[in-house]
Amino acid sequence: MSYTPMIQQYLKIKADYQDCFLFFRLGDFYEMFFEDAKKAALELEITLTSRDGGGDERIPMCGVPFHSAESYIKALIDKGYKVAICEQVEDPKAAKGVVKREVVQLITPGTVMEGNMLDDKENNYLAVVTETTDQKFNLAYTDMSTGETFVMEIKRGWSAVLSELYNRPIKEVVVEKDLAATYIDELKEKMQLTVSYAKKTTPDQAIAELVNDITDDRLRETCMVLYQYLYHTQKRAIDHLKKAQVIELAEYMTLDMYSQRNLEITSSLLRKEKYGSLLWVIDRTVTAMGARKLKKWLERPLLTQSLIEKRLDLVNGFYEQFFEREEIREALQSIYDMERLSGRVSFGNVNARDLIQLKRSLAKVPYIKDQLKQFDSKAVQALSDRMDPLPELYELLENSIAEDPPISITEGKLLKDGYNQELDQYRDASRNGKHWIAELEQKEKAETNIKSLKIGFNKVFGYYIEVTRPNLPMIPEGRYQRKQTLTNAERFITEELKEKETLILEAEEKSVELEYQLFLEIREKVKRFIPDLQQLAETLSEIDVLQSFATVSEENNYVRPNFTKDHHIYLEESRHPVVEKVMKGEQFVPNTIELADDKHLLLITGPNMSGKSTYMRQLALTIIMAQVGCFVPAQRAELSITDQIFTRIGAADDLVSGQSTFMVEMLEANHAIQHATNDSLILLDEIGRGTSTYDGMALAQAIIEYIHDHIKAKTLFSTHYHELTSLEDNLSALKNIHVRAEEIEGKVVFLHQIHEGAADESYGIHVAQLAGLPDELIKRANIILSQLEGKSCDQSSSPVDRDKDDMTMEQIAFFAPEEPVKKKEPSAYQEIVESLQKIKLLEMT
Ligand code: ADP
Repeated sequence: MSYTPMIQQYLKIKADYQDCFLFFRLGDFYEMFFEDAKKAALELEITLTSRDGGGDERIPMCGVPFHSAESYIKALIDKGYKVAICEQVEDPKAAKGVVKREVVQLITPGTVMEGNMLDDKENNYLAVVTETTDQKFNLAYTDMSTGETFVMEIKRGWSAVLSELYNRPIKEVVVEKDLAATYIDELKEKMQLTVSYAKKTTPDQAIAELVNDITDDRLRETCMVLYQYLYHTQKRAIDHLKKAQVIELAEYMTLDMYSQRNLEITSSLLRKEKYGSLLWVIDRTVTAMGARKLKKWLERPLLTQSLIEKRLDLVNGFYEQFFEREEIREALQSIYDMERLSGRVSFGNVNARDLIQLKRSLAKVPYIKDQLKQFDSKAVQALSDRMDPLPELYELLENSIAEDPPISITEGKLLKDGYNQELDQYRDASRNGKHWIAELEQKEKAETNIKSLKIGFNKVFGYYIEVTRPNLPMIPEGRYQRKQTLTNAERFITEELKEKETLILEAEEKSVELEYQLFLEIREKVKRFIPDLQQLAETLSEIDVLQSFATVSEENNYVRPNFTKDHHIYLEESRHPVVEKVMKGEQFVPNTIELADDKHLLLITGPNMSGKSTYMRQLALTIIMAQVGCFVPAQRAELSITDQIFTRIGAADDLVSGQSTFMVEMLEANHAIQHATNDSLILLDEIGRGTSTYDGMALAQAIIEYIHDHIKAKTLFSTHYHELTSLEDNLSALKNIHVRAEEIEGKVVFLHQIHEGAADESYGIHVAQLAGLPDELIKRANIILSQLEGKSCDQSSSPVDRDKDDMTMEQIAFFAPEEPVKKKEPSAYQEIVESLQKIKLLEMT
């Protein structure tokens, strides 16, 4: 037996959309068949049924109602799947045989347009990665909902591609078939991205225009691949796409994937959410467009001092005038997401409510322009001149769209009276008819003397006169024709009533049809304003970010950073922007941070939990804040431009699963060493901890020396290896600093204060004492410590003299592993010593 024609049609279409769920329109449902149906039933938790399709076995089937399809599509997209929407493309009544069907749109994670499938405050990117030559790549990404596209060349290998993809809201990556399988696997497994393959189609004229500014052939081709994929999935003109913008990575601070993550710039490490990140602290934007822009700025701190100063000047302007700033914040609150609205206009799925929102936003623009003029800052005033309130567009919307229109654009009530003469005539006809009916009701009541007589309407019978059962005898013979009988009433019609009804219904039908046509015309007219709207959206979102910076800066007592060219960093009373916000009860303790060309390496010692890593991170975050144009948490901030930040902080890396912590540590350290310059910042937290004490310390020392001698990057290095503190004697640009644990009323307290010099190394014993270990034991520990110290001093091998090649080194520990300190005391102590020796410190938390 062979399949029915419809199933054959299904299979033919499905063959072209193997990697998608095919939503096959059947009446009021989208149906799925075969494997799609089984998988969708599981993923969407809907009932799996079956139907006879002409074959030997029944065909698995499941479906979702057309009108609620969006939520099902969203669920599949969120899980990384793609959905092909297959519609009936001819009128079923006119069809001979099976109704013609076609895929009209392919919805993929990177090409979502529909409002409630998108996060307002996040972009939604589709990316393309191409390999140009060995280890050089091109990356382009676009947000179809806003129309913006960026393209860049990545020269630092595949890991740099991953860093670019990481932490950006990229949902889907398009690759060409020849990209190495290991890369594709990494995109899927490590980055959890949907991977799609490029579709070659003949370049469209519209696409060519979008890329004709790009001079580099390869970059242009990469953009083409991106746009071709968009056209392939959307199958329609996309007018709101802006010209691709070429990003020179060298113009922005480089933050590799590890640093973006470790520094918790846009999401927190543990919970992977905005709360607890730098973004969370500095985001006081009030519009969705502003929130997206802020995130974009934060993803790419600037390197050009003049551009940074320009932003800082603007922030300062807003900062200085609280009252005017509040006015701006208030006004921005009623600004609608014009960027995404432009996308929907171009896409053809904007409704009358969207346009009303747009009109109300435009109405606010002149006010915002005026308010900006109220600022003393010339820079802020200049923002006002950049804004065009688009009066023509405003007029169009004001004259046409009704104030409270329905969501649907096919049921009328969209337009105002007076906008179109023909429409007014239909509306008059219908209104007059209704008026006539109201009068008829009065007249019939009076003439029949039936008080409860009324005229009603329903979709099946149209207009009718209703008389309740007890009153039926009062109707004069032959006055009405009976139409419908209800339990306690009868419904009637008259010739006249029917005639009027036809007039009214015709007028209404025509007016609804006309309104729809007129609405489409208006939408086309709005389309012509898309570039202007995008321009306006750009300025408004920038204003929003700048006011947000000013607002947090004032609320959190930040200070404007001052950039100097002498490689000097001086942060007086610096704070950690996030930690100070999440502390409950306690006060954050500010600390000064100073680095210079001749003192560019700080070696930080001190017990756990004293604040070493907080101190390191706050420097990095302060630099990032300053270079995106925000004020910073300090009393005074002198900075020089930092080109890159490298970090080795924190726990085992789940991204590079399967590798030991130590391997990850070394990879990250290597990454820093390979790429850092003397304008870079390197943060190394407890490096070497992941291996045995000896080679860990040896490596730590060698890394410090290498950075000191060859890279000269500003470096903060925290360590447990107290021995390293003597490097200060040999390395002129290294300075020891430490955090102390203090004893207050018999308790260990961390004051979180950074002091110059090395930490007191007996703090461990000190803590043990405070923990209440017997006095005798503490005394003994002190004796052992001083013996160990004496021993290592005698052999003068700790740490290794950097001029010698001899790498054997002794390590100061409580207990020398091979050669226990001579036993003088009773065996109880020896037992304690032995049991303590057995503890595997590296495996403890
Ligand atoms: P370490 O790196 O030395 O182990 P952390 O930097 O992780 O220590 O700090 C531990 C905790 O101490 C932090 O979570 C924070 O709550 C607190 N802390 C750190 N620095 C400060 C500070 N300057 N002021 C107040 N509390 C701090």
